[in-house]
Amino acid sequence: MAGRNFLFVPGPTNVPDRVLRAMHVPMEDHRSAGFPDLVLPLLADLRKIFQTADGTAFIFPGTGTGGWESALVNTLSPGDKVLAFRYGQFSHLWIDMMQRFGLDVTVVDREWGEGASPDMVRDLLAADKGHAYQAVCVVHNETATGVTTDVGAVRKAMDAAGHPALLLVDSVSGLASIDFRMDEWRVDLAITGSQKGFMLPAGLGLVCASPRALARGAGARLPRCYWSFDDMRKANATGYFPYTPSIPMLYGLREAVNLLLEEGLPAVFARHHRLAEGCRRAVQGWGLSLCARGPQWYSDTVSAIMVPPGINGADVIDIAGRRYNFALGAGLNKVAGKLFRIGHLGDLNEITLLAGLAGSEMAMRDAGIDITLGSGVAAAQRYWRETQQPLPPRATGGPAEAAARPAGSR
Ligand SMILES: *Cc1c(COP(=O)(O)O)cnc(C)c1O
Repeated sequence: MAGRNFLFVPGPTNVPDRVLRAMHVPMEDHRSAGFPDLVLPLLADLRKIFQTADGTAFIFPGTGTGGWESALVNTLSPGDKVLAFRYGQFSHLWIDMMQRFGLDVTVVDREWGEGASPDMVRDLLAADKGHAYQAVCVVHNETATGVTTDVGAVRKAMDAAGHPALLLVDSVSGLASIDFRMDEWRVDLAITGSQKGFMLPAGLGLVCASPRALARGAGARLPRCYWSFDDMRKANATGYFPYTPSIPMLYGLREAVNLLLEEGLPAVFARHHRLAEGCRRAVQGWGLSLCARGPQWYSDTVSAIMVPPGINGADVIDIAGRRYNFALGAGLNKVAGKLFRIGHLGDLNEITLLAGLAGSEMAMRDAGIDITLGSGVAAAQRYWRETQQPLPPRATGGPAEAAARPAGSR
């Protein structure tokens, strides 16, 4: 098909051209004397994205799922009690992993459309007088439902209970797109992957560990080898890896971190918020509703849009892909068929997202949803025009100046 295939799945996200070019490199010897010049500054700058000064960043060849595993096996022992909230497919899968590792998981089920409850964290931990819970696990941004949990509030709840459990956070679809403050929230393990906010292909599991989390490692008895923090730290200390890293991915990550730091994290977060709010206005314009059950849960990286009864959300996605050559996210598990998702994270601006909104309108109409064409697009356009930034100064000699010149002059 001609034209670009626009990705509006919440991962993998569109890879910026600068990142694609940076990855187009010949292979090199990862044991060479020069290799640490790439690795050491990259590990240091990665910590800026996690907003940590004390944390240790890890780059595993893998994905977010591998990041989950590394977080568990480096800090916990078989039979350890952990507290975990389930409110979507990703929190569900992480809990499944915890159970497969033989952890004793207290699962708190929440409505799909809400997130973790700080009040419940406080009450459950306050009741745990013997401090049996070793960890609290939350998914910062539940990608399946477009729900963001207030991790800072979860930390406050743990403090209020005076509980020493570790705080493990999946921010696979949050980090580098929405505010994530590892140090301020005293997150002990933060987990992400490369194919969401980092705008890279899948292929890296990125993890950051607090000094407390690393200290727990010595007593943690879950078996680990490939995901061992100790092996990784030993090699990373001199700028190497314990096994062969994916070299193009490292160059891509270098460029992605450059892009994020050049724009500045506050600007990155503000852009995502503004784009997401435009998308929410569009949903309102269509007369549809989000899976997220209230503004406190709204995700700035993904919107899960409920389809009316009698309509299969999968049809919207199928038509989007086959007829219009763009990708929307599916409803997973409990919400399969009931919604479709628009991912609005990573490398995008208003015009990119308008394409996704306009395409969604066509696909929805084709699938039998009674919306007015243009209603969502117009609502987003209005919102973005109302909230636009002042124009940057005009470069001299641009098209406007040329047009202002009298006819015949050059
Ligand atoms: C994508 C995602 C994952 C899984 O990551 P993989 O890279 O596919 O292993 C985990 N958690 C959340 C919240 C995600 O969005």
